[in-house]
Amino acid sequence: MGKNEKVDLAIIGGGLAGGLTAYFMAQAHPGRSIILAEQNDELGGNHTWSFFGADVSPAALELLKPLISRSWAATSVEFPRVKRTIDGEYHSIRSEDFNRVLKEKLGDKIWFSMTATKVTDTTVLFEDGSSIDAAAVFDARGLQQIPVNGLNGYQKFIGYDVTLQEPHGLTAPIIMDATCPQLDGYRFFYLLPWDQTRLLVEETFYSDTADLNEERISRSIKSYIERRGWKLKSIDREERGVLPIPLTSDAIVTSNAGEPVLLGMRAGFFHATTGFSLPDAVRFAEFLAKAPELTTPTARESLAKFRRPWLSRQRFYRLLNRLLFQASEPSLRYIVFQKFYEHTDDVIQRFYGGRTSWTDRVRILSGKPPVPVSLAIKNFSERSAIERIGSTR
Ligand SMILES: Cc1cc2nc3c(=O)[nH]c(=O)nc-3n(C[C@H](O)[C@H](O)[C@H](O)COP(=O)(O)OP(=O)(O)OC[C@H]3O[C@@H](n4cnc5c(N)ncnc54)[C@H](O)[C@@H]3O)c2cc1C
Repeated sequence: MGKNEKVDLAIIGGGLAGGLTAYFMAQAHPGRSIILAEQNDELGGNHTWSFFGADVSPAALELLKPLISRSWAATSVEFPRVKRTIDGEYHSIRSEDFNRVLKEKLGDKIWFSMTATKVTDTTVLFEDGSSIDAAAVFDARGLQQIPVNGLNGYQKFIGYDVTLQEPHGLTAPIIMDATCPQLDGYRFFYLLPWDQTRLLVEETFYSDTADLNEERISRSIKSYIERRGWKLKSIDREERGVLPIPLTSDAIVTSNAGEPVLLGMRAGFFHATTGFSLPDAVRFAEFLAKAPELTTPTARESLAKFRRPWLSRQRFYRLLNRLLFQASEPSLRYIVFQKFYEHTDDVIQRFYGGRTSWTDRVRILSGKPPVPVSLAIKNFSERSAIERIGSTR
């Protein structure tokens, strides 16, 4: 016989968005009864989530501090013609720390190993017969499907946490090393140095296809390590992902009366160009935690307000995606990023945080882009992209 509870808030899915929303809510309203239900026996899956400090408010960063596995004062990028440092804090949260800290902070508010089978605006039913009645129900069960609406490219990657035989000498993350031969679209390596001998080495592609050639990527990560003059001691962990990069329409999924409020990737809240969702998950968790009243309808209204300015910026990021995916040969895609990294630290960080201003947009599209902007606007509108690609795919 399952359990039955009545609470103020039920959150289904203990990944990034669900976990952070439960945590922010519990900190802001200790008196509120909350259940965070997760199908696995740990929160957060198997990820390394990274973000710039400027992506989130100082208050949110303070709350996130216990979850952060490692921070750095700067990052760098390497391209054939641009090699530079980007000043500004960069942080990474590993799933193991996310799980450990949220377990400490939320205690018996978490229901582990509970698979939700039916989720409405006021009730949740689980596989084992348990149920929850709640004034507010949030559905944070992750991305429902790829591809999302419209036409998509993909950001796909495999990363290894490795230990080297000797110190690697890196003091800061290299968020893009695109000095490698280009293959399967835009290809680069991402490096996070955990300590002197351990680091995450990830091979990433902005590709037209969603498939990951595991065997080839495994070989190429190992030969990249060798090319850097490093000697591999062990591969300690692996993570992988395939994230949609929307070209023609947002991935937003809205819910209606009678349904729960959708959060995180499930709601389509991710940066159209980077595929990342942490900044939005944090901002929305913070926004919701400030609301004095909490029911499914009031949270749905808050989400609609939050979405409006967000949608306008995502339109700009999709234009960049079309420049990236459609304006040049796949092997020349790196030039779009190489040019982007000539901008100031502030412009780069606002872009990653999904906070690109109108002035930034003009700056990013001005100068000598790989494709003339007039051509981009004319030939790379969402409609013409659909007509062009729709007929060939
Ligand atoms: C390997 C990887 C690395 C990434 N790195 C970054 C990064 O550095 N920065 C960034 O911003 N973004 C990153 N992303 C993208 C994105 O932020 C993550 O995918 C993020 O985890 C999405 O958060 P979410 O809460 O929407 O979904 P998820 O984190 O996937 O959480 C969904 C949760 O719901 C649970 N669930 C599903 N169905 C049920 C059910 N029926 N009942 C109960 N529970 C259920 C799942 O087990 C899971 O725990 C990364 C993605 C991947 C795959």
